[in-house]
Amino acid sequence: RGSYIYRYSSHGLLASLRYNARMGSYGMAENIMVDSHVWVEDPEVAWIHGVVVDIKADQATVKTNDDREVIANLSKLYIKDDEAPSEGVEDMTRLSYLHEPAVLENLATRYGLNEIYTYTGNILIAVNPFQGLPHLYDADVMEKYKEASFKELSPHVFAIGGIAYREMINEGRNKCILVSGESGSGKTETTKVLMRYLAYFGGHTAGEGRTVENQVLESNPVLEAFGNAKTVKNNNSSCFELDGVNDAEEYLATRNAMDVVGISEQEQDAIFRVVAAILHLGNIEFCKGEDADSSSLKDEQSKFHLQMTSELLMCDSHSLEDALCKRIMVTPEEVIKRSLDPLGAAVSRDGLAKTIYSRLFDWLVNKINISIGQDSNSRRLIGVLDIYGFESFKANSFEQFCINYTNEKLQQHFNQHVFKMEQGEYEKEEIDWSYVEFVDNQEVVDLIEKKPGGIIALLDEACMLPKSTPETFSEKLYQTFRDHKRFIKPKLTRSDFTLVHYAGDVRYQSDQFLDKNKDYVVAEHQDMLNASKCSFVSGLFPPLPKESSKSKFSSIGARFKLQLQQLMETLNYTEPHYIRCVKPNNLLQPTVFDNANVLHQLRSGGVLEAIRVKCAGYPTNRTFIEFLNRFIILAPEILKGEYEADVACKWILEKKGLTGYQIGKSKVFLRAGQMAELDAHRTRVL
Ligand code: ADP
Ligand code: MG
Repeated sequence: RGSYIYRYSSHGLLASLRYNARMGSYGMAENIMVDSHVWVEDPEVAWIHGVVVDIKADQATVKTNDDREVIANLSKLYIKDDEAPSEGVEDMTRLSYLHEPAVLENLATRYGLNEIYTYTGNILIAVNPFQGLPHLYDADVMEKYKEASFKELSPHVFAIGGIAYREMINEGRNKCILVSGESGSGKTETTKVLMRYLAYFGGHTAGEGRTVENQVLESNPVLEAFGNAKTVKNNNSSCFELDGVNDAEEYLATRNAMDVVGISEQEQDAIFRVVAAILHLGNIEFCKGEDADSSSLKDEQSKFHLQMTSELLMCDSHSLEDALCKRIMVTPEEVIKRSLDPLGAAVSRDGLAKTIYSRLFDWLVNKINISIGQDSNSRRLIGVLDIYGFESFKANSFEQFCINYTNEKLQQHFNQHVFKMEQGEYEKEEIDWSYVEFVDNQEVVDLIEKKPGGIIALLDEACMLPKSTPETFSEKLYQTFRDHKRFIKPKLTRSDFTLVHYAGDVRYQSDQFLDKNKDYVVAEHQDMLNASKCSFVSGLFPPLPKESSKSKFSSIGARFKLQLQQLMETLNYTEPHYIRCVKPNNLLQPTVFDNANVLHQLRSGGVLEAIRVKCAGYPTNRTFIEFLNRFIILAPEILKGEYEADVACKWILEKKGLTGYQIGKSKVFLRAGQMAELDAHRTRVL
């Protein structure tokens, strides 16, 4: 009694992995007894450590280090490694006890020492410092990493850039570096550092002018200036005043960046005119017009803004007013001009603003792609992907649906990479890997994108039926997916639905799914803008081909799916490197490390799964020759005999009393911590 074999429990969000009982024993066979140092769950700080003072049946009393007594089930306790180096470890797979609290403590410890980068195998975790760290990205640091092989130096974004670059050049492999994390976690900052380093690695110092390198770097501020808005989670703003952000300076920087990416002065002027027009447009208000159900401009102010909008867009002010307040109805018999009521006119105004803005943004992306794409000599590729993370808010709409769909696909890619690479390696070496059972997220991906029958397909169907409402759409979902494991109909709702994502459940409000999925430009808006005297504006709205009937709807969801497929194809012919960015707190402040917050991100980012899979198997492997080069010193007697390489390796391992490792066809596979153990023996001999 009083002792308990430690079991790894995978619960809640982590249930996407199943392990059999053997999993429980790796490196974790220690028993928990009175006096054991353990981690226990805590509502405030996620995990707190303490000492077991009493055990009754399966309940332990733990005296925590802040002097409280907590009673917890033994199966909920995790052993704390008292020998863990006080400065933490650079690679999580070196932790002797690999579990959530240890991972968290390691990150927090390192963060406290301004060590913001930590490896998990080949994955780099980057914790946002929210402050400039002196010398982290200096030229001499760049130089040091340029010479070093991967993992020779401390974890760094330069090390990832370096290995990707070297393998591309030396071995002709295509590469992609995926930078993910939630909003404000540092993806864009990391991407910039990475791109600057790649440019440097390629022999170009970041200089002046329109080099491809500069264009790539400057494309970021341009897209950010137009693509970012201040959100609850991020400070990046387009919306007005922010502390420490100087608008005049930002404006000049944006102008300069636009020069570099090859946007002409004329185009720049037109762009700023269009942006100003959108701002004026937003200020136009409507009131009831003379006829029933009609609308007119509310006051002098609104007339002024209408005038400004039309001047800036260089289109006729009467056409603009008509386009906002009236709709042309085409019936088989006649063409009728119907008035919109004030609400309808306001919807029309917002639709127009959205349309112009999205065309402008598409234009910018296209322009940048063309100017950067000029370097046609290069046959190989390093792609750098800066992608928004999983989102789950109080209210979730179509945008969150698309974002989370993307993250499911990327998670699948990540899973495949981590799991299948691992298994592939074991298979090649003909060693036993059968104990790791992997359930991937194909189910939920199918639920969303399968054609026919998936949510996107059903949404498109609903959009094409004139009588659809959010309720009929949701009802269709409820019927179709009644027995689906990944779909839940919440109680007491006629339009919400919940998806069981890999990172947790998300409840979506379907109210605006239909509207947001429909992509069409109102014909009146199209005609008016096409007639603009400004060639830039009319160019954003080229005449439509005759045959495309204007009622034809095009689906945002389907287009999104297609783009995602293209992205996945690109990713699939490249070798991925992963950087997971972590936002240590929601205050956006340096030195604050919020455990619960970080833990949530590690779960959603798949970092914990990757660790578990890696450590359930053989986190370290070495070719026989590598192994012997490193460890023959532990058994010099081998040199006297004539042994096969595998026999020699086994000799060393047995001599040092290691068990559980595997000898493959060309490599030695070590369990978690065994490399460290051998290294320790080696240090003693040296
Ligand atoms: P994301 O693109 O993930 O939304 P950003 O890259 O814009 O996040 O980072 C948000 C803010 O965090 C940045 O404006 C910057 O102030 C800070 N930050 C992020 N990464 C770093 C870093 N490596 N060093 C210093 N500050 C950083
Ligand atoms: Mg960003």
